[in-house]
Amino acid sequence: MARRCAPRPPPFCPNPRCDSRSGSKPWRFKKKGFYLRNPSPHRIQRYLCHHCGRNFSSQTFSTTYRLQRADLLETLFLRLVACSGLRQIARELRVSPSTVQRQTERLGRHCLLFHEQRRPRAVPAEPLVLDGFRTFEHSQYWPFDLNLLVGASHYVYGFNDAELRRSGTMRPSQRRKRAILEARHGRPEARATRQSVEELLRRIVPPGRRVTLRTDEHPDYPRAIRRLEDRHFDHERTSSKAIRTPRNPLFPVNLADLLLRHSSANHKRETIAFSKRRQGALYRAAIWMVWRNYVKSTSENRKDPPPGVAIGVIGNRLTPGQILTQRLFPSRIRLSRWLERCYAGRIPTRRMERIRIHQPRMAE
Ligand SMILES: [Zn+2]
Repeated sequence: MARRCAPRPPPFCPNPRCDSRSGSKPWRFKKKGFYLRNPSPHRIQRYLCHHCGRNFSSQTFSTTYRLQRADLLETLFLRLVACSGLRQIARELRVSPSTVQRQTERLGRHCLLFHEQRRPRAVPAEPLVLDGFRTFEHSQYWPFDLNLLVGASHYVYGFNDAELRRSGTMRPSQRRKRAILEARHGRPEARATRQSVEELLRRIVPPGRRVTLRTDEHPDYPRAIRRLEDRHFDHERTSSKAIRTPRNPLFPVNLADLLLRHSSANHKRETIAFSKRRQGALYRAAIWMVWRNYVKSTSENRKDPPPGVAIGVIGNRLTPGQILTQRLFPSRIRLSRWLERCYAGRIPTRRMERIRIHQPRMAE
């Protein structure tokens, strides 16, 4: 007779408002039957929380929770960092583009939490390099910077977004179109870069600590640093025109930019796979960051461990399967306001009046 693997007991009540989370009494639950399903594991144990009466199952704690196609997540994780467009992936996996889109968003949310749970909470023990990766959403009229904060080890500590106004050489007709679009949808905040860089540094560098920060000569960076009076930055600036070799102090972030463009179909030049929403680009950046930090070798030639091993936040290289072992709950991880908004899919796109935000069936 085939042996059935017993499910692990549930670790906590999934209801964030359940008093078992804050109370001093030990959590009590009971088994409440099971249901059968086609994909493995076929038998899913159901439970009932004694404190709040919430019903849940062993699947509640799985990253494939409520997914019809639970077998796609790992493949999708790798495809998304192998420069495939969403429709290309859908054709290969024989599913609809909307399935790929929904599962990509779920992967993005998971990766935001996965990284937040693992990244060092103490002051980074290495110089940090900061730069804005220029890309766009919806059309070339709506550029934005993906601000990346990378360590000398190539570990990506974090990122966020800053809307920009379209600039550079434009034909008179393009100028007119920009004016019409801005009149209709509003103009990006002039202070967006300063505000975003401030948020990112505040998130990664704890108060009262000192860190070396390397950037180019963008005037908004010193402005952001001046507002972080309770942190000390030894700010080293290098011209963005300096040759981009490994000797350049900005090399870690220059390499991250190259790798991000090389691995992500949405950031290729002249592509039709560009992100329609900044939110989509941010979810994909979260997946890329987890792959870069915990899966991919720091150097492909040396086949060495990923940057996360080098700075000691993980012991060994992780596989996508290990990254996706357990569902993560935002209510159990401390998130900054920007991360909360990004997790919930609330980063707006000016061109779209209505955006779809993440509304979990059960409060998490
Ligand atoms: Zn409960």
